[in-house]
Amino acid sequence: MVNHLGMAKLNRKKVKVKIFLFSLFLLPLYLLFFTFFQSSATELGNNELPPLNAHPLPPTLVQWQDATNSGDYFSQVKPTKVGYLVWSDFPVKVYVERPLEPIGISAAQLRFQQWVEAVLQAVQEWSVYLPLLVVEEREKADIVILHQSPPLKVSFNHDTGELQLPRARTAETSYQIYLRQQTNTAPELYHRCNILLSPDLSARNIQAAARHEVGHGLGIWGHSPLEADTMYFSQVRNPPPISHRDVNTLKRVYEQSTRLGWLVPELSH
Ligand SMILES: [Zn+2]
Repeated sequence: MVNHLGMAKLNRKKVKVKIFLFSLFLLPLYLLFFTFFQSSATELGNNELPPLNAHPLPPTLVQWQDATNSGDYFSQVKPTKVGYLVWSDFPVKVYVERPLEPIGISAAQLRFQQWVEAVLQAVQEWSVYLPLLVVEEREKADIVILHQSPPLKVSFNHDTGELQLPRARTAETSYQIYLRQQTNTAPELYHRCNILLSPDLSARNIQAAARHEVGHGLGIWGHSPLEADTMYFSQVRNPPPISHRDVNTLKRVYEQSTRLGWLVPELSH
């Protein structure tokens, strides 16, 4: 028995030594990966980013005067780390996904076409207040609107230890920040928006949902507490058109400062 135990101990030691050697062997690889990832990203501190500055108000919003003095819900719009998410290069380019096949062959394609028309209508409604241009190429767009349901995000409940499936959502808007190289000078900090809009909505709800999501895409990253506004946080039975309060809020957003649309001087050389 003693002998057996001794053998077991010896084996364990061997295993430990082996693991140690294996780790040593891999160490240069870890270091290689570490340096690779280190060199592939440059961390920009707040003082290396473009300073927060307001852009000139687009003429469409300069002209906007609300004679009814309806107020706004600007206090509900929160700035991000780069300031307010405003566009500074007009017209803002919008891409709307379209059916690949010729239109009108199947019921599904007809519904897709109805979806396209409802979305274009919503884009048209906002273009009264900010210059928007519908483009054919997705790569050139600032705002991309896709005929797609937002993915269901499964979350883990730590208390019950169970996975939770949320209710299906009809739309989702997200944004990304990137460096846009327009000329030979320094690149500028810019953003891009992605809107996923469910194909399974009635024509009227598509237009209302698109109107709401495009409102986010144009810079209203917050919700109104009033049902009469397009940016009300929930879907309503009779979706309202863009309200005075929506436009008043949009105008206030565009008066704010942002790091977007300004050159990043550190990266000019
Ligand atoms: Zn919303």
